[in-house]
Amino acid sequence: MREKIFVTRPSMPAFEEYIEAIKPLWDTRWLTNMGVCHGQLEARLKEYLGTPEVSLMVNGHMALELAIQMMGFPAGAEIITTPFTFISTTHAIVRNLLSPVFCDVKPENGTIDEKKIEELITKKTVAILPVHIYGNVCQVEEIQRIADEHGLKVIYDAAHAFGVRYKGKGIASYGDASMFSFHATKVFNTIEGGAVAFSNPEYAQKLYNLKNFGIRGEEIVTEVGANAKMNEFCAVMGLCNLNHIEEAIKNRKERYEFYRRELSKVKGIRLFKENEDTERNYGYFPILVEDGYGKTRDELYCQLRERNIYARKYFYPLTADQACFGKSYADVELMHARDLAGRVLTLPLYEGLYMEKAEEIVTLISEFPQKDK
Ligand SMILES: *Cc1c(COP(=O)(O)O)cnc(C)c1O
Repeated sequence: MREKIFVTRPSMPAFEEYIEAIKPLWDTRWLTNMGVCHGQLEARLKEYLGTPEVSLMVNGHMALELAIQMMGFPAGAEIITTPFTFISTTHAIVRNLLSPVFCDVKPENGTIDEKKIEELITKKTVAILPVHIYGNVCQVEEIQRIADEHGLKVIYDAAHAFGVRYKGKGIASYGDASMFSFHATKVFNTIEGGAVAFSNPEYAQKLYNLKNFGIRGEEIVTEVGANAKMNEFCAVMGLCNLNHIEEAIKNRKERYEFYRRELSKVKGIRLFKENEDTERNYGYFPILVEDGYGKTRDELYCQLRERNIYARKYFYPLTADQACFGKSYADVELMHARDLAGRVLTLPLYEGLYMEKAEEIVTLISEFPQKDK
């Protein structure tokens, strides 16, 4: 049986490095609740991400949920967002008892179409929640202009954008808050984990309360908070992985550039446009299967699967079309988002992906249209 190749494979430090780093926990017995390693990781991430404040969380989803909650929006208020994302983005809005208002995306890079945001603003709109999908940077300046003009908050789902820099600044410098995911499958992982990065120092205390039951002292609870703290074992994993993040991104870059060079030659395969002035993190390699390819996205997906290559349809279906929302958003005009969702296929890309495998994937994709003809 051929080895299965999945869309991603977690980066891990050497076993010895991790074991050495967790040893002190057997002495201190301080396993969670903002321990030493938690503090160290927050400090190092502030520097790496280039943002004054970072609040670590148990996972990216809770980071986003609490980032929205801390804004104190009234129930039923509207947040303009994208449906071309992982379900977590939409869930975070709905679980805060707010209404997602879906905006179409741009065909060239899958991010929210900033030109269509203003027409969706109503009296109930309180925020814009765009996603830097695949690490493709949203039109952050124009989004900020719209937000400023209408008095809206901007919260980014930057789950895919760890380490991405735009115009020389960390991506979390834009907007009121940005959420990062440190899930095992992401460019940087803490096994499970996430963070909110922001500049307003007032948010630090709010997020602390929300992630730790609102406990302000041994006998005082001032807020109805959740439990979303990152534990020390995860923080250590983060510290170790952060030691190697440059290598990990460089390793991904080689594979990414190989795919980009080779697949741009294949008729009917379209690649997303890369932002200018951007340092990428090479987190994902999505391709778009256009009509000119001669086979459909689903046919290609199955063909790769037969060869034990588990490419994924990230992101299909749109979150707006998911079963949990019934037909609520069936009539929303999402032409480009629906088109992309029907064409996109995300190829295996991770640190240490064998180049022969990447070559094999390229060959399979190039030769598949000629098969059975
Ligand atoms: C991974 C991801 C999340 C959720 O992060 P978790 O750490 O898995 O909770 C949210 N949004 C997007 C776009 C993601 O890819």
